[in-house]
Amino acid sequence: MEILDIFIHDTTWDFILEIIIRCFFMFIFILFFLRLSGKRGIRQLSIFELAIILSLGSAAGDPMFMDDIPLIQAFVVMSTIIILYRLVTWAMMKNEKIEILLEGESLCIIEDGMMVIHDIKKGKYSHDEFFAEMRQQSVEHLGQIKVAVLETDGSLSILFYTEKETKWGLPLFPKDYKKSEYLSPETFYSCMNCGATQHLLHLEQECPRCQAKSWAKSLSTPHLH
Ligand SMILES: [Zn+2]
Repeated sequence: MEILDIFIHDTTWDFILEIIIRCFFMFIFILFFLRLSGKRGIRQLSIFELAIILSLGSAAGDPMFMDDIPLIQAFVVMSTIIILYRLVTWAMMKNEKIEILLEGESLCIIEDGMMVIHDIKKGKYSHDEFFAEMRQQSVEHLGQIKVAVLETDGSLSILFYTEKETKWGLPLFPKDYKKSEYLSPETFYSCMNCGATQHLLHLEQECPRCQAKSWAKSLSTPHLH
């Protein structure tokens, strides 16, 4: 094997010109079919949408540089994918079961300033994933949140308490999200696993909701909009 072979092999100037022309057309195809998909833009993709984008992408890639694939074949492949996409999207609109099967369900992960533990225990999600997401939406602690829903596209929708309603809750930033070492009876502590918040008699106390035994000092600052 020669190193030059890897880079050039039997490529001729003619073929390079062909590649440029092929890319030009394939690029136009991609734009055309993405427009046909009816999506207005892409921020986050559900699994189903990701499957479509992957299929379109791989159908578009090879014909750009394989001299034995006529562009019409790529065109047929991409048309088929988009027709399937539109059909399935239509079916999902008509039937909720199909929608849940393909896109998944939105999950309520926080209620009244606490994690919904029913779902943590089932292992449907891990904390860290959306602790990060909540920090990005400048949530300082869980006591600021009335309801948080994990949408099927992976984004997090948050409904905040007003300043007056804000409760004591589990801190999310590293400075405060740590196991307490000293106990003061007047202070509120939050379970680091589920966010349950209460006074403690001692720091090795079991959380009544989830049986975890690590407690962080709670915060009660209101959310800054
Ligand atoms: Zn707990």
